[in-house]
Amino acid sequence: MNLTNIGNVKEILGRHGFSFSKGLGQNFIINPDICPRIAENGNAREGYGILEIGTGIGVLTAELAKRADKVTAVEIDTRLLPILDETLAEFDNVKIINEDVMKCDLGRIIAEEFAGLKIAVCANLPYYITSPVIMLLLESRLPIESITVMVQKEASQRLCAKVGTRESGAITVGVNYFGTAKSLFNVSRGSFMPAPNVDSAVIRIDVNKEQRLSQEEEKFFFSVVKCGFSQRRKTVANALSSQMGIEKQRVYDALKALGLSESARIEQLDMEQLIAFTKALRA
Ligand code: SAM
Repeated sequence: MNLTNIGNVKEILGRHGFSFSKGLGQNFIINPDICPRIAENGNAREGYGILEIGTGIGVLTAELAKRADKVTAVEIDTRLLPILDETLAEFDNVKIINEDVMKCDLGRIIAEEFAGLKIAVCANLPYYITSPVIMLLLESRLPIESITVMVQKEASQRLCAKVGTRESGAITVGVNYFGTAKSLFNVSRGSFMPAPNVDSAVIRIDVNKEQRLSQEEEKFFFSVVKCGFSQRRKTVANALSSQMGIEKQRVYDALKALGLSESARIEQLDMEQLIAFTKALRA
């Protein structure tokens, strides 16, 4: 079934009495060029199991299922299940799990679904949980090779910014700690039904398996990053002393050891400096 043909989509949605939920970020892809490109850039190929988040009516799911050995998709909206039964009827390598991605046990799902396969995530993410989903996937240290997702353009700029620049944020540091993010291509708002108010972009994060800090250090690192960026206009010393109770002199000493000024702000530290700064603060 052609799921980018507007007539087909309207017919099937109408027959099932489906109405779009804004709250669930339901903007379905109707531009036929997009899903094949996400699948091809997202490791959907032989030897791979793909975890999809949010199927809609299955337009991306179908392109993934054509290319990968298996697709398991987590979709929260129960109303979509009878629709997916129809739209994905031709595939015997797709499984839909009707759960909230933020609450389900992704580790268990991956272990049960993808034994013997390499694993990648592909999705057109619901915009209201873009950053939490990405951080959940990365922080859980799931055995994932890559995360290829459509996000709002503004979010893509933040996610793919260089750490140590004004464009970066706590999410930039989070993503760069666990992997490398790259913007692949832009997608105009007219590519969706209903059309959102903003444009989008597809990004890919290649996950890095290396453990750069111990668990304890990692926890402290993310507290420092969150605290620093929540008050990004303050100096790091002011932010950390007022919110985390760390003595200013200790912050100055850690900055000095890296050749940085006492008035440095968090967004001025690049990835290696942030890691070294955290270690120095704990020493
Ligand atoms: N992949 C489809 C496409 O590109 O046309 C749909 C993308 S739409 C932007 C986001 C999808 O995520 C919707 O189907 C929505 O119901 C689903 N969704 C929203 N919140 C979710 C959650 N917490 N867990 C799982 N799925 C969710």
